[in-house]
Amino acid sequence: MPTPLEFKGQTASEGFAAGPLWMARNEAKLSYQPKDTCEADQQALIDAITQASARTTELIAAAEGDAVDILEFQLAMLEDDTFSSSACDLIEAGLNADVAWREVLDAEIAGYESSDDDYFRARAVDLQDLRDRVLAALTGTDMQTIPQGAIYLADDIAPSLFLSHDWTGGGIALRDGSVTGHVAMLARQRGIPAIVGLGAFESPEAASALLDGDRQSLILAPSEDLISQFKLARQQFSETRKNAEKFADKPARTADGTAIRILVNIADPAEVETIPVTHVDGVGLMRTEFLFALATGLPGEEVQYLAYKKVLDWSAGKPVTIRTVDAGGDKPVDGFTETETNPFLGVRGIRLALKNPEIFRVQIRALLRAAVHGQLKVMLPMVSVPQELDEAILLFEAEAASLAGVGIVHRMPEIGIMVEVPSVAILPDRFCRAAFFSIGSNDLTQYVLAAARDNGQLAYLAKADDPAVLALIGKVAEYGARQGVDVSLCGDAGSDTSVIEKLLATGLTSLSVAASRIGLVKSEIAQIDLRKMP
Ligand code: PEP
Ligand code: MG
Repeated sequence: MPTPLEFKGQTASEGFAAGPLWMARNEAKLSYQPKDTCEADQQALIDAITQASARTTELIAAAEGDAVDILEFQLAMLEDDTFSSSACDLIEAGLNADVAWREVLDAEIAGYESSDDDYFRARAVDLQDLRDRVLAALTGTDMQTIPQGAIYLADDIAPSLFLSHDWTGGGIALRDGSVTGHVAMLARQRGIPAIVGLGAFESPEAASALLDGDRQSLILAPSEDLISQFKLARQQFSETRKNAEKFADKPARTADGTAIRILVNIADPAEVETIPVTHVDGVGLMRTEFLFALATGLPGEEVQYLAYKKVLDWSAGKPVTIRTVDAGGDKPVDGFTETETNPFLGVRGIRLALKNPEIFRVQIRALLRAAVHGQLKVMLPMVSVPQELDEAILLFEAEAASLAGVGIVHRMPEIGIMVEVPSVAILPDRFCRAAFFSIGSNDLTQYVLAAARDNGQLAYLAKADDPAVLALIGKVAEYGARQGVDVSLCGDAGSDTSVIEKLLATGLTSLSVAASRIGLVKSEIAQIDLRKMP
């Protein structure tokens, strides 16, 4: 019996899977047979691109939600002749078609990989995928077929490969990868277990494997003992999930009968298609940065209006909180954000929006127009001083007047603020013009503990249940109760079942959570007895 091997990584998508290990084939083994003339080589490349585009179109037809966006990005890249004409120039200069294509794409990929932004780094894998799909067409090699139920092990995985496989019973183990990457996001959405960041290691060619989301590990050639521990944990996980799902469509209530409002966090408006509106009390945070990070540049008024309207149309009259663009910090946007030495303490969120009124006004107009389709609440990010709120309200009033002047239907929404800068939580009374508050525990924690949220080494500090953070949350909840102002929390802490009890103990009665955690959060709340709180 071989000795079991356990490799630790990070759980990108919770869950358990057991099956044969399936290692990714090495794409470098593909070889291209050069043609007799340079024109024939160029034609071979164009044909391969056409074939890859057709394959991508097929995948789009079968895909849903975010997957469609990723594939459409790839299709747009394939159809844009910048890459093909650069590669044809290199063929003319004497390179083989495969080498020329690889050279052009690798240069582009290197640009994405060196970005400071997780979003763009994660997008590099979309381009690698696109490069390899054209190479596969050029060399006549089919896409690799992964057996169903297998544990797929690779350095990273391309979205198209992920999307073209039925992962039922199987899972994904990546030596690299990131929890914020596209495949991680898609795997979470579909409930496919995935562990990333396993690091480099030699693995046996044939082995049975366990993917254990609780242990955050990949186990090869497991012993009987490890197998029974795994089975027990897997059973507990599926029972917890099954029980939690029973709570999803019920109102959230603590054991002592306190009603808790559960809202949902979204980014892409397409996400609402998979969330039953009856499961939530509305949208507590719609992040709009994704609209601003499109490859096509900053979004116009119509694109934004339609995105906001889509969510309001889905909401069945429940409140929808849309946050104005929160670019900067860990979310740079080309053509908008500035290069700074300390972006987390820089021109980000509302500071950046007010500094660029020509960009902010477009979003404001789209929001004012969308507001007629439901109960819209507009939330300003990273507010630090009351003047920022005053200035934003003035801009909303000016744009409303200009829309009224030309007879365009619109409505003034409630305007509230995120509480993510300590200055707001320390003296909330100064922000009495805010119609509501929503606590951004991710940023509030990083600013209270002076621990960057994207630095894994500081994870032991960046905890939302730190007593100092909880004390500030309590101050804001107390202000809300005293003044009759709505206070909610929309940071990741609201989805973390190990922190919810402490959050409710501060006096909070409203949480905005990840869609995949609605049932779990409600079932956790049902076990909390606020009368027993200190
Ligand atoms: C937060 O800071 O908690 C928050 C919800 O905003 P974001 O994570 O988008 O910065
Ligand atoms: Mg924030």
